[in-house]
Amino acid sequence: MSKNIFVTQPALPPLDEFIPYLEQIWESKILTNNGQFHRQLEGELAEFLDVPYVSLFTNGTLALFTALQVLRITGEVITTPYSFVATTNALWWNNIKPVFVDVDPIYGNLDPNKIEEAITPMTTAILPVHVYGNPCDVQRIQEIADTYGLKVIYDAAHTFGNKFKGHSILNWGDLSTLSFHATKPYNTMEGGAIVCQDDKTKQRIDYLKNFGFADEVTVMAPGINSKMNEMQAALGLLQLKNHKKNIEKRQQIAKQYCDELNEIYGINLLEHPTELGNYNNSYFPIFIDEKAYGKSRDELYFYLKEKGIYGRRYFYPLISDFPSYRGLESAKSDKLPNARKLAKEVICLPIYPDLNKSDINRIIELIKA
Ligand SMILES: *Cc1c(COP(=O)(O)O)cnc(C)c1O
Repeated sequence: MSKNIFVTQPALPPLDEFIPYLEQIWESKILTNNGQFHRQLEGELAEFLDVPYVSLFTNGTLALFTALQVLRITGEVITTPYSFVATTNALWWNNIKPVFVDVDPIYGNLDPNKIEEAITPMTTAILPVHVYGNPCDVQRIQEIADTYGLKVIYDAAHTFGNKFKGHSILNWGDLSTLSFHATKPYNTMEGGAIVCQDDKTKQRIDYLKNFGFADEVTVMAPGINSKMNEMQAALGLLQLKNHKKNIEKRQQIAKQYCDELNEIYGINLLEHPTELGNYNNSYFPIFIDEKAYGKSRDELYFYLKEKGIYGRRYFYPLISDFPSYRGLESAKSDKLPNARKLAKEVICLPIYPDLNKSDINRIIELIKA
C-alpha cells in the first residue's frame, strides 16, 4: 500500500530555527498589537514583493473583508464565480451584492469584455482574482474602472511573488489582498495581508484591523480585530528566508509534470502569458477533455483518490452554484459558460516542495494508464 499524497503539504522551517524567535516573544511578553516581528515582517515583505506598503492580517479572508471596508465599498461588486468561496463571502459579510461575470476560457480570470454590461448604478467596485497566479487583464480592468469611477480590489491570494512585465502584479488596482494560509506557497500557518500604494491608506487599514483605534481614546470607524500576532509574524520572517528554495522546488516539479503530461491526448495544461515571471506554481491544474481523454474529470479524480492521490477540483463547484448565491440573477448557469467548463474539467495535482520524483512519477503513470 503506497502512502497517501495530498494536493499540498505546508513547507516548514527546521523547528530549532524557530525556537529563538519564540524565546524572544516569551522574553518580551509582546504577543501582538504591532510588535517587533510584525513591524519587521511588514518591512521585509514590502521589499521582497516590491510593493510600497504591506499590512499584515490574521488570515486572507479577513484581509479581503477589511479591504472592502477600507474603500467603503457598498451596493454591488462585479466578481468572478471561478475562485475560492472566500472571495464572494467577503462581499456577503459586508452586505454587498455580488454580481458574477464570466471568466476567460484560457486562464480562468474575470473576462474584461463582459464587465461593462454588468455595471449598474449600484456598482461601486470590481473584485477579480488572479487565478492560479496568472495576472488578470489588469490594464483593461483599470481602464473600465477609471471610465465608470469604480474601485478595484484584487484577491491576489495565489500571486505571492509573481511578476508581470517585470513588476509585481500586486501594485495593480487600489488594493490587493494575500493569503498566507498553510496551503499557500508562502505560509504563516494562517495569515494574510493587504497591499496598498500610499501611507494614508496604510494608516486607515491599520486602524480598521485594530477595532478602529487611532489612539487610546479615538475610534475612527467601527473596525474589526483582524491583525496578525507575533508568532505568525516570526514564522513569516523565517519562511521568507526559505521561500526562494521552496519556489525552485515547485518549479522543478511543475517542469516534470509539464514534460510528461504534455503528450497525453485530452489532458490540457494551464497556459501562462509570456511576460509572467517568478512564477510561484502554487497550483498545478490540469483540464480533462473528456472526449479526447476517454474518461471524465470525475472518473479520473476518483480513480486517483482510490490510489491515494488526493488532487482537488479547484474550483468546483462554482461559487455561484452554492446555495447562498445561486438565486442571484447573475448566477444563472447559461451566463457563465467558460467558468462552468473549467469547473467541470479541472483537477489540481499535488505540488509542494517535499513532493519527490518517484511520487510524481507514480501520479503521472496513473494519469497515463
Ligand atoms: C486561500 C484563498 C483565500 C482565503 O485565504 P485564507 O487565508 O484561507 O482566509 C481567499 N481567496 C482565494 C482565491 C484563496 O485561494
